[in-house]
This record gives sequence, C-alpha cells and structure tokens, in this order.
Amino acid sequence: MSALLQDPVDLQRQAISLPPQTQTDQLAERVVLTPQGAVSPPPGYSGMIEHSTSAHAFLEHSTSILFPVLFVLNVYFSFDRLYELELVWLAAVAIPLALVLGDFVGGLVHWAADTYFSEDTPVVGPALIKPFRQHHIFPRDICTHTLVSIVGNVCILAVPILALCLYMLWVSQHGLLAFAILLTTLMAAATVATNVIHKWAHQEKPSAGVRWLQRMRLVLEPRHHQIHHTEPFEMHYCITNGWLNPLLNKIGFFRRLEATLRFLGIKTTNARNSCDSRLM
Ligand SMILES: [Zn+2]
Ligand SMILES: [Zn+2]
Repeated sequence: MSALLQDPVDLQRQAISLPPQTQTDQLAERVVLTPQGAVSPPPGYSGMIEHSTSAHAFLEHSTSILFPVLFVLNVYFSFDRLYELELVWLAAVAIPLALVLGDFVGGLVHWAADTYFSEDTPVVGPALIKPFRQHHIFPRDICTHTLVSIVGNVCILAVPILALCLYMLWVSQHGLLAFAILLTTLMAAATVATNVIHKWAHQEKPSAGVRWLQRMRLVLEPRHHQIHHTEPFEMHYCITNGWLNPLLNKIGFFRRLEATLRFLGIKTTNARNSCDSRLM
C-alpha cells in the first residue's frame, strides 16, 4: 500500500462543505476509483485517489524494478554455492521455511502497525501505520491500487537487504551463509508478495488461478482473512498464506506479546477500538 497523503475521511467531510463545482470535481474523482463505473463508492471503498510524493514514488518505482533483479541474482548464486558444496537439500528446506517465516514477519509488522504508534508517528506513520489503519475502514481500496503502489514500500526495505546479501555471497564461500541468504531472499519475496496476495483476498472476482491458490491455502484465503476484519479485530494478522494464524491464536501469541510490552511500559494505541466500521 502506498503512503497516503490525504485522509479519505477528511476528504469526505470536506466534500460536504465545498461549493457545488468542487463537489462535482470530487465526485468525478470518485468515479475513477469505483468498480463497474459506480457513481458512489460501494461499501468498503473510499472512492478517493491516493498519491505518493514524487520522491517516494521514485523510490517505489526504482526499487520495484531492482527487487526482481536482486532476487534472481541471489537465488542463482546462493543455489549454485549450495550445489557446489553438495548441500542442495538445504535449498529444499529453505522454501517452506521462507513461506512460514515470511508469513510470520508480515504478521508481526501488521500487528505492530495495528496496535502501536499512530498515523502521526514520524516516517512510519504515513508510510506504514496509516495505510494499515485506513485499510480497516476502506478494505476494498486495496483493489484499486497499482502493483507498484502495493509492493513499493516493501521493496524499498527489501532492496538494500538483498544488495547486502549479494555482497556477502561475493566475499564468502560458506555453505551456511548461502543457505541463510537463500532463506532471506525467499522470505523477502514472500513479504513483497504479501500485499498482492492481500489484494486478491479482497477482490470480488479474482481470476480462476488465484481462486485455486486460495482454495489450496497456498495464499491467503478470503474467508480466513475476513476474521481479521471482524470484531474484536485482534486475530489473523498473518496475511501471506495465514498458515500460522491458528497456532498464534491458540497460544495467544500477540496478547502475550502485548502483555510483555505493557509490563515494560509500552502501551497499545487502542486502534482496534476505533475500527468498528471495517467491512470486507
Ligand atoms: Zn489489520
Ligand atoms: Zn484486509
């Protein structure tokens, strides 16, 4: 999800008090974003256009191009190193492990963004906290976002990590390092793919291939994700494939983590209490 520069709720409030011509302009802007050419946004859509700043858009686009290049180079060279050292079996371990760890890391970031900080927190507020919280109010807005706008923020973080991994592969011949880099690279890919998969979970008519992946539970299944958008809005934070959600629910992982942080003096921002307008 891209950084949001204008609050859709504020814009809706502004639209009510604007002169007629301006209201017409605002409406035209809504028509662009609503599906099937609807005049007013259906439930779950804000109908608002979101923009990144030009500097942020440059970073999103450049890293979205660099990420697949670095991904291929890291996978090729780390796999080649494991092959040379007759440790190919480690590559077979890395794939499922990356899918589980990628799901967990994404879930942890999602929980933190839903539970702590605020939209005004410097740097992470507009780039991370606000998109997650706006998503709870307008969950289907994600369906109107471009590929770059939904993977860009993660690519900005992933590209420097993959560049460092490639450098480490260059200077070290160690087999375990090659395994760690292959695992990190696959995890990064799972994390970058998360918002695309999340978007699929909110689409009204996903493609047949996507529906098959969802049915097989290889990616986030929409009904499974619906639980996150349902009261008390405090479960199913993992949104890559959701495999870990049942286990994390069972052991009360996030509640225990919150209790531990509360003990350390870090309080939640009670964002969940204000999310009663969530819709699929
Ligand atoms: Zn959430
Ligand atoms: Zn969602």
